[in-house]
Amino acid sequence: MLDAQFIEHNKQVLIHEQERLHEDIQLLKQTLKNEVDVDIEEGDPEIIEREKSATLLEALEAKMAAIEHALKIIAADQYGICERCGAEIPKERLEVKPEATLCVKCQGEVERMLRRGMNPQRTRWHFPVE
Ligand SMILES: [Zn+2]
Repeated sequence: MLDAQFIEHNKQVLIHEQERLHEDIQLLKQTLKNEVDVDIEEGDPEIIEREKSATLLEALEAKMAAIEHALKIIAADQYGICERCGAEIPKERLEVKPEATLCVKCQGEVERMLRRGMNPQRTRWHFPVE
């Protein structure tokens, strides 16, 4: 089991990351909004830039959602337990990836399912957090 100090430390890391991401997302959204007013023609390098920004925004928002989810898990006292199979997530994994709420095996399976367009059916997991 994880010690309270480690969980608290990771919680602080996540909160800090959340604040940083929030700023980045706001900034990026602002940039995207401003660019809408600019008259862009097809094949314009502006479009490529915009697409890059939009992709980045998506990635940042996904990371933000993962962090918020991990903080909910911490609040529910289930941190360090795989949401899907109930196995303990090794401390080493949580040190590298504090927002992890799945063990390596489940993470791989879920990602494979998502890539195939399948729904990993979160409601059937060991510990579904709304
Ligand atoms: Zn698992």
